[in-house]
Amino acid sequence: EPKLSGDFATLMGWADKIRRMKVRANAETPLDADTARKFGAEGIGLCRTEHMFFDPERIGAVRQMIMSETEGGRRDALAKLLPFQRADFLELFRIMAGLPVTIRLLDPPLHEFLPHREEELAEVADSLGADLATMKRRALDLSEANPMLGHRGCRLGVTYPEIYEMQARAIFEAAVATAKETGKAPVPEIMIPLVGMKKELELTRAQIDKVAKAVFAEAGTTIEYLVGTMIELPRACLTADRIAEVADFFSFGTNDLTQTTFGLSRDDAGKFLPYYVEKGILPKDPFVSIDPDGVGALVEIAKDKGRSVKADLKLGICGEHGGDPASIQFCESVGLDYVSCSPYRVPVARLAAAQAALSAGGSDRTA
Ligand code: PEP
Ligand code: MG
Repeated sequence: EPKLSGDFATLMGWADKIRRMKVRANAETPLDADTARKFGAEGIGLCRTEHMFFDPERIGAVRQMIMSETEGGRRDALAKLLPFQRADFLELFRIMAGLPVTIRLLDPPLHEFLPHREEELAEVADSLGADLATMKRRALDLSEANPMLGHRGCRLGVTYPEIYEMQARAIFEAAVATAKETGKAPVPEIMIPLVGMKKELELTRAQIDKVAKAVFAEAGTTIEYLVGTMIELPRACLTADRIAEVADFFSFGTNDLTQTTFGLSRDDAGKFLPYYVEKGILPKDPFVSIDPDGVGALVEIAKDKGRSVKADLKLGICGEHGGDPASIQFCESVGLDYVSCSPYRVPVARLAAAQAALSAGGSDRTA
């Protein structure tokens, strides 16, 4: 059972008095959310909803959705997923008890949800009452040479609006139910992944606002919510002023931003990157610590451009770097509002944020 006690809890209390940045956690399961709170997280900064889709009870409906070639077919499958998603968010809102919860809509390429082996594909075909040849053709249609640069993130939301509609409905229904149950409405922060163009956020945001209106009309009540975006592509950083016009917040996805800035696959980086670090070509692994000349420079550009449009635009980071002390120092120097990291790194992040605030504020802050 994770818990902070004794001298460690006292130390954390001091750190909390000093730090300026909030510390949130990346969490999607009730267990992670619970752990995050026990370690002092002040909200969820990233709930990766795709993890919820792999649950054995729902993967069938997910695959049915993916294999459907008509919008009607996809909507039928998504209707089966709605109660699961609603229950997921209800539970997270309950555990987080009014703290902010940032929910990221579906991000990975759809073929990640399909089995690779032919026997397994045949089983899926069987369960869906489809013939194997059709299944294989559809799976082939979905396969991509470079999936991480492919049909994922908001590109899914743009091309299959019904997916994000289902997720938005689940979020709003859960938020309304929580408000009715507890008398206190959570303020969901809905986050769109992989935005590179303002229009992508405009389109997906419009879908979300439409669903919100419908759910509020059905429930006879309204709740507050935010719609923001991950900033994880160089183009998003360079056009952040335009994107900020339609975003309530930005969260830097520095895993993808590192991948796309270096043109270096995050999944294969281990193959030669250690050699680069050993030879001093790179001072550190950029997937662990923010590279100030690349990703760091882009974060600063995005901050300046975003806040030139909205002076109080809320800014956070939710890549792995959010739990790395040197990167947290960088986030403080840029003026981000919060860092979000894995639940077990929350105490480290609280300390690092305090240290960063001390060095940023000079000696008077230590008094
Ligand atoms: C990121 O890209 O930094 C991020 C937080 O999202 P994910 O790791 O899920 O791509
Ligand atoms: Mg990402």
